[in-house]
Amino acid sequence: MRCDLVVPPNNGTYKTLNCAGYTAARSIFPQTKAKTIEFGGFIDKGPNGTYSYTPPFPGSRTSLPNFYDQYNKLLQSLPTGYSIAGWYHSHPVPPPTYPSAEAFSGQDLSASHYINAPGFVVTPTGKVLRLDPGPLRLRLECRQTCVRAAVESLTDHRKGLNG
Ligand SMILES: [Zn+2]
Repeated sequence: MRCDLVVPPNNGTYKTLNCAGYTAARSIFPQTKAKTIEFGGFIDKGPNGTYSYTPPFPGSRTSLPNFYDQYNKLLQSLPTGYSIAGWYHSHPVPPPTYPSAEAFSGQDLSASHYINAPGFVVTPTGKVLRLDPGPLRLRLECRQTCVRAAVESLTDHRKGLNG
């Protein structure tokens, strides 16, 4: 995948949140498939305005029970000038066992709302979707449109275009 990297992928620094979120979500797809559990992590923004993502932590088949513990731990250990700009995770179990696997769950909405930052998910089919926090009413009414817009923007990244 061509992306707007600042430095090589192993150093994990990206120019945009979308690129960091997309890359982070795709990076946990293989282990999600292999172990059939969710993985999650966070995207941070550094003092120079670029984005990185934290190493993933494991969850269960259908949730990340330690999400808030991990969030608090990261908040307390962030160096000066860094902030949490988003989070990412995976959905291993496809519908109908897990009906919201190809979209965001109510728990995902709550998580993005709580940390007040976008979330990225890689679904069982390997799609990456972005969820933005906001007033609950607005989120529910425009969720499909918002998700579709995010997918188009991320598709542009895969083609090497700006977006
Ligand atoms: Zn989820």
